[in-house]
Amino acid sequence: MTTDQTEPTTSTHVERLQEVLQKYWGFDSFRALQREAMTSMLDGRDTLVVLPTGGGKSLCYQAPAMCLDGTAIVVSPLISLMKDQVDSARACGLPARLINSSIDARERFQTWDEVRRGDVKLLYVSPERLTQREFLDQLSDVPVSMLAVDEAHCISQWGHDFRPHYRELRVIRERFPELPMHAFTATATAQVREDIIDQLDLKEAQQFVGSFDRPNLNYQVLRKGDVTRRIFDVIEKHSGESGIIYCITRKEVDQWTALLQGRGIHAKPYHAGLSDEERRENQEAFLHDDAGIVVATVAFGMGIDKSNIRFVIHVGMPRSIEHYQQESGRAGRDGLEADCVLLYGNDDMVKWQYMIRDQPSEVHAASTDSLRRMASFCEGILCRHRALVRHFGQDLEDDCGTNCDVCTGDHTQAEDPLVLAQKILSSVYRQDQRFGVEYTVLVLKGSKSQKILQNKHDELSTHGLLKDEPKQAIQDWIGQLIQQDCLKRVGEYNILKLTDLGWQVLRGEWTPKLLTSKHTEQDAGPTTSRSKEASWEGVEMPLFEKLREHRLALAQERNVPPYVIFGDATLRDLAKKRPTSTESLLSIYGVGQKKLEEFGEAFVRMIDDYCRENQVESNVQLESRPPSVPRSEKPANATALLAFPHFAEGKSVEEVAQLIGRAKSTTSGYLSEYLREHELTDPSPWVSYEDTIRIRDAIEQTGGDRLKPIFEHLGGEIDYDTIRIVCQCWANAQG
Ligand code: ADP
Ligand code: MG
Ligand code: ZN
Repeated sequence: MTTDQTEPTTSTHVERLQEVLQKYWGFDSFRALQREAMTSMLDGRDTLVVLPTGGGKSLCYQAPAMCLDGTAIVVSPLISLMKDQVDSARACGLPARLINSSIDARERFQTWDEVRRGDVKLLYVSPERLTQREFLDQLSDVPVSMLAVDEAHCISQWGHDFRPHYRELRVIRERFPELPMHAFTATATAQVREDIIDQLDLKEAQQFVGSFDRPNLNYQVLRKGDVTRRIFDVIEKHSGESGIIYCITRKEVDQWTALLQGRGIHAKPYHAGLSDEERRENQEAFLHDDAGIVVATVAFGMGIDKSNIRFVIHVGMPRSIEHYQQESGRAGRDGLEADCVLLYGNDDMVKWQYMIRDQPSEVHAASTDSLRRMASFCEGILCRHRALVRHFGQDLEDDCGTNCDVCTGDHTQAEDPLVLAQKILSSVYRQDQRFGVEYTVLVLKGSKSQKILQNKHDELSTHGLLKDEPKQAIQDWIGQLIQQDCLKRVGEYNILKLTDLGWQVLRGEWTPKLLTSKHTEQDAGPTTSRSKEASWEGVEMPLFEKLREHRLALAQERNVPPYVIFGDATLRDLAKKRPTSTESLLSIYGVGQKKLEEFGEAFVRMIDDYCRENQVESNVQLESRPPSVPRSEKPANATALLAFPHFAEGKSVEEVAQLIGRAKSTTSGYLSEYLREHELTDPSPWVSYEDTIRIRDAIEQTGGDRLKPIFEHLGGEIDYDTIRIVCQCWANAQG
């Protein structure tokens, strides 16, 4: 295997990437951190990318692979989805192939032939296959550009999808020590991240960790009421669209599937109790259907790339916030709005505790902790977007304001929260801190149930103290007191105990925040209506539906999922701008060269016919973009621009990193852009004279095409960021 790419230094990387983005995908900008991550890969540095589901990780390795010589090897855990991934890539015109156990020997030989001829840019393989000796031997005869490990958290026991075969990927490093290796995951915990770097033996990995917020998702977290009605409300709002309904148990999956099917809805079950064959069929049906619904346990979802899932409903609390982030995150990958509705109840905790009862004790303790955090999230009163990113150690500048149940004012402040909290806490205390939430609610409501009478708790001064408040409200307040650390749940039965802060509240030294949810069973219903959503503005609905039908027909002909032809965002853009010439199609979001050639003609004809027949204006707001002229690089992103004035003052990378709140390596990338944009040739404000001389020398010795040989020539004594600065100045000086 050879890895000698003649890659230029940073300066032209971004331009080439941008051309590739436009040509193959029809996208005209990078998503957050894509540019930084891709540049790092083109530099040949080992790279770890952590972006939320839908963040655009596949592009992060596919685009650089198209810029590099040789074949990129992509490891992906799920054979059942690899074909879709490759179909998707091929539909964009990327020369991608796959090798796994579903491929027979003849096809395999053919694929290797193509790889040897240099006709394959992306080779998808299963970890099982990649680590086989025969495969490794084949690999050493062909030029390989890099190894991309997708869903890299599978390598970690701490992650939620541990795959033993991922551990063996280490042999790649041993066999090909020079090969740049990159890992991709949506799992945010530091422990998993470290484990990935460790296990794959990534060298001086550049890490890019994105924001975990998903601004296009609308979170509604509600206490269970009329569950059936809520589910049907959501389904009705999204009629003709795809969604997932997550349940805790297999039995629930079967029940809900039957109920939906009984009402004529395309719903398929998915859980570990079904045969492999049934699971595969149901998954395929879901992916290939434009409007299907899958009802599933946690077993469903990893690697599902369907971009137009418009809703995810949880009937019951997920087992951890990590799971919730992953599962709800499967909605709205295309960046368009999507609904995430979570219906929780006190019984969920009990169900989960039953399911984890046999775990070994330390695992059990961790699971219980996760469940409690999840429960606090449900009962919480913090903007859902903020609460989620906080869990992952990040924060938001502002609450979302419009996209969660907390922010949209489905809650009001409770009157006199201090007194209210004191009533609740003193009841917990008077009950000897030996009971859980439900029981405490009953005491406060003044119930005369047998258990309460037995315990003589009807004689407590707190008995009936909140008898006029709805039971749900009292439950919510207790949850909120837990979230604010005034109470905690302990032991197997989740008994309530006072904390230090709880005592402070009782003494009147601190006032917690208590909210009343306006959601009662009577006013159930989705909070946003489709017509209000901005992304539908100007979209000609009947035309959109026609285009969708056409997409489905094309997909069925080719036996690929519809989103592989065009995403929903593209169809909406088409139905909004209504282009009637193939040239103008290129200015539509998500239309690259290949798709233009393959599908352009037919779509344009449909649009033209429709507009004529219905006397609807065509070619709305179309700036036609001549296809042959590659678009020049866009100005640097907003944060980069913030950094520029500081660089102009000669501030160091560390100082600027602090000022703009970005990592040092990211800031160093901005400095390169600054140097390029201003065509500066003098690195002296940032690099010592001595280092500059050494790096210049190394550039001359190695040709200066890539950073890695320079780094190695210098015996690893000077870091990449410094080398990059000198290289950029050197490149500027060459003109
Ligand atoms: P991930 O693997 O991180 O979950 P994907 O790679 O599947 O995400 O991408 C999610 C969606 O975002 C895809 O539909 C993809 O086409 C789209 N996407 C990725 N990058 C961009 C971009 N730069 N501009 C517009 N859409 C993008
Ligand atoms: Mg992915
Ligand atoms: Zn919010």
